[in-house]
Amino acid sequence: MKMPVGQNAPALTIVVPVFNECECIRTYVEAVAAQTMPCEWKLLFVDDGSTDGTLAAIKEIASSDRRVHYISFPRNFGKEAALLAGLEHSGGDLVATMDVDMQDPPSLLPEMTRAIREEKFDVVATRRTTRKGEPLLRSLFAHLFYKTMRCFSDLELVEGARDYRMMTRKVVDAIVSMQERDRFIKGIFPWIGFKTKWIDYEYVPRTTGSTKWSFWKLFVYGVDGVLSFSTAPLRSVAFGGILAFAAAFPLLVFMLVRHFALGRPFTECAVLAYLIAFLASMQTLAVGIFGLYLAKIHRESTRRPHFVIAEQA
Ligand code: UDP
Ligand code: MG
Repeated sequence: MKMPVGQNAPALTIVVPVFNECECIRTYVEAVAAQTMPCEWKLLFVDDGSTDGTLAAIKEIASSDRRVHYISFPRNFGKEAALLAGLEHSGGDLVATMDVDMQDPPSLLPEMTRAIREEKFDVVATRRTTRKGEPLLRSLFAHLFYKTMRCFSDLELVEGARDYRMMTRKVVDAIVSMQERDRFIKGIFPWIGFKTKWIDYEYVPRTTGSTKWSFWKLFVYGVDGVLSFSTAPLRSVAFGGILAFAAAFPLLVFMLVRHFALGRPFTECAVLAYLIAFLASMQTLAVGIFGLYLAKIHRESTRRPHFVIAEQA
């Protein structure tokens, strides 16, 4: 386990990945500080290689507020890496992850804390009820992504789920134990399980700054997500091969019966058609078998734990 950042170890660490967000930092810290929290907390900013004054703004606040801490990356490693670093260096029994741009309302933090402490949930997750105000193409692809995920993987991905969550230490340990290279936290949460409470809220537009996700970056992230949690596309080739073979084989029987039992001659065209169908089916089957082995290698290469323990005595 990595050492928690900051001397004080309050009950709750709020992990906040930030990339070029200097306009948002102060407003965000003030908004969190304005909440009546049921426990002590600290903020752990993970500066994901910002090139504006983000780190300077965090340092300035940290110099006068001992609840504010930070980790800084030498370059942009992406939000997933920033979240992992924050979780690995968090302290205390509870950890929250949230965005800095006020799209994740800090006013939910007290309710989330109580849901874990009093209602005994392991995770409190949030989801947006509408995509109102979002570009149409982005909403469309997001919807398509969730549909694909549901179709291709066993994971129950919740549409509209945010990375705004609060969790207990054992959940953090489970997430950190997943050491795969391509991380997709939206899939990691349903994969590990745990008792989860969902809180819905309306879409909140960004107060300042602009989104750090271009359409293309989001698209690649979505495809990566499908590939990380589903080998169905690979396995479906083998299935296609079996189907093609199952169609080509009766064709051969039909031609042989037609020739030997009914005395009809083989026509050049029919022989050619049969050869093409048979060879194509064999090829698809061969590629499918490669796919099955590749799917196995893919699963092994993620080096995911075999299980996660929820409780023990
Ligand atoms: N972020 C990050 N690294 C990146 C991109 C984004 O740490 O490479 C942070 C960003 O500063 C913000 C959060 O991740 O705190 C969510 O980003 P953004 O608001 O741009 O995403 P959106 O809300 O548009 O999905
Ligand atoms: Mg945002």
